[in-house]
Formats: sequence, C-alpha cells, structure tokens
Amino acid sequence: MAKRDYYEILGVSKGSSAEEIKKAYRKVAMQYHPDRNPGDKAAEEKFKEAAEAYEILSDADKRAQYDRFGHAGVSGAGRGFGGGQNMDDIFSQFGDIFGEDIFGSFFGGQQRGGGGQRRARGTRGSNLRVKLKLNFEEIAKGVTKNIKVKKYVGCTTCNGSGAKDKNSVQNCGTCGGSGQVRKVTSTFLGQMQTVTTCPTCNGEGTTITSKCGNCKGEGRVYGEETVTIDIPAGVQEGMQLNISGRGNAGERGGPAGDLVILIEEEPHKELVREGLNVAYELHISFTDAAFGASVEVPTIDGRAKIKIPAGTQSGKVFRLKGKGFPAVQSYEKGDQLVQVNVWTPQTLSNEEKHILEKLSDSPNFKPNPEKGQKSFFDKMREMFS
Ligand SMILES: [Zn+2]
Ligand SMILES: [Zn+2]
Repeated sequence: MAKRDYYEILGVSKGSSAEEIKKAYRKVAMQYHPDRNPGDKAAEEKFKEAAEAYEILSDADKRAQYDRFGHAGVSGAGRGFGGGQNMDDIFSQFGDIFGEDIFGSFFGGQQRGGGGQRRARGTRGSNLRVKLKLNFEEIAKGVTKNIKVKKYVGCTTCNGSGAKDKNSVQNCGTCGGSGQVRKVTSTFLGQMQTVTTCPTCNGEGTTITSKCGNCKGEGRVYGEETVTIDIPAGVQEGMQLNISGRGNAGERGGPAGDLVILIEEEPHKELVREGLNVAYELHISFTDAAFGASVEVPTIDGRAKIKIPAGTQSGKVFRLKGKGFPAVQSYEKGDQLVQVNVWTPQTLSNEEKHILEKLSDSPNFKPNPEKGQKSFFDKMREMFS
C-alpha cells in the first residue's frame, strides 16, 4: 500500500511552522485516540499514522530529509517506519507534547490501557551514524548491503531487563509500580493535581535488587549486529537514510535509537557526476575527427558505442539520453554528456612532418569557425541549461 503524504495526514501545508504542525497533530491524535474509539481498528491505524507523520515533521532534520526525498529519505527502503514503533512509544511521546497528564484529564482522569499502567521502560538508545561508500554502478541500480555495525545490543542473559532473575525485580515502593506520582498543589484557581514521573524508578515502576552479571544491570551489552539495508537507486553523496529502531539498544528494555546511514560516493575512474547527469571527456585522434569514427565510451551501465561524424570539432558535446542517474523520488533520469577533445600530436617523425607541411597551406586546414559552428559561449549555455 502506498504511504500517504505526512503533510496530508496532519492536514497541514508544506510551509507550516513547527507550532502549526504540533497543533494539527494534537487535533488528529485527539480525534483518533484509542480511548475515544475503543475497538476501532481504522481509528487506531489513523492514530499510528499521525504519530509517524508527527515524529518526522517535528524533527527539523527528518523533515528536511522528507521534503527532499520523500518516504525513501526517512525510512530506509524496505523497512517501514512503523516496524519499531508500538502504541507505548506513541503514548510516551504525548508527555512532551501535551504535558504530563493531558489524556488523564481529558478522559476523566483514568489511566489508559487495559488494566496495566502506562510506564516508561528503560531509556531510549542513542542514534548511530555509519558511513556507507557506494560506487556509481550501485548508486545507479540501487543495492542491498549487509553491514556490520558495532553497537549496543540487548542483553540476552536477562532479556534486556537488567535483573539477575525474576525475583530481583520489585515493584517500586515510591509509586507502587505505576511509574508516576501525583502531587496536589495550591494555586489561585484552587487545588490542582499534577502527575509527574516517579523520581525513584524514573517512571519504570520497578526497581532491581540484584543486577544481571552479564550487562551489569544495563540490559544491553556492546556488541555487533549485521544490518541489511536496501539502498534505493539514485542516492547521492551526503544523503542520509534513517532506519528506525536499528541504532543502539536502549537501557533496560528501552526502545532502540535509529541507525542513520550517511551515503558517500566512491569517485569513478573516468566519469564525473553532476547531479543526475554524468560527464565524460573523450580524446580522439585528429584523423578520427576528420574522417569520422565509431568509438566506445564508458557509462555507468557498461560501455556504449557513439558515432563521431566526419569534421567533428574539439569541444563538441554529445548527449547520451537516459544514461545518467535515476532520481530517487521520480522516474526522471539524467543523461551522459560526452565532450570531445581532439588530440594534437606532441611528437612527430620526419615523415609525419613532411606530410603535415604539405597540408598546412591547404584552405581546408584554415580554421573557419563561422561555418556551421556554434560559438564557445553557445555551447556553454547549452551545457548548463
Ligand atoms: Zn543482562
Ligand atoms: Zn517509582
């Protein structure tokens, strides 16, 4: 199923300010909130969709990526954004946006969730940035890469809990396991109840009496993971692909950070990239230029033959349509530009000198640029248009 545009999901325009986006998200999230639409699967999907859109558009870096490359720029192709995000993550996000207990107060002060209390699990892992070098062929076609990433991974001994065993995990005495403490404060409006994260357990609801020996209670260890990444065709130097949930593992079962792939281009021996186009400088002999010739040139898709017509001048540019790079976000494709350079001999044998001397007075050998020749400036304009 095609993913919907994030701006469309939130009902905002592309130029909207951060504040407008926050407001729009608040509205959509309220409308589709599961507490208001119990058992309504379609509403839940819309709720998740809005959370995803907000996560991207509320982050300046991710938003810029999305504006430039669309969904491909923020999810890393092949792995949907939603994969790492569950409802708990979405709800934990609300604290920052709506204030600690807004849903509690909106929905009659009830804790949400079927019986279990909402609580933060551990701490989120940090994002991880890795560089990935790609050659022209890989960029042109797109490529699947398996890369080894050194990072924090969940501890398998304790399953990420950080505890030695089940009996070492105890309900937090301060908050009774809810992860939150209520405070009553007096204001000029009267008494007000506020809910804050429990300072003893940091909102986790539990404390650990005996730590896991393998991870020293952190719930994660430094290790290595092989990550499979689908790189879409047409990426370029400096582009970032964000793979949700594949960064450092969180502490004590907290959500993992993102893996950010920074694309680097390996320079090609003969070709130069100019946006979607590819440039190649072709050297031909004076005789080939005069007689015309069929020559082979390298392209990002193997070798191609081009015809050099008789009488071709140095500086002439041939365009190989569609032999450039594809665009990431459209069906557009660049061209290859082949600029001809006629080689002037630098050493001459006596016989060659003799032949050329005979030709030097011939009228055909006198430069005559007016005759069917575009000026240097016209060619420059053509090349950069
Ligand atoms: Zn452990
Ligand atoms: Zn507590």
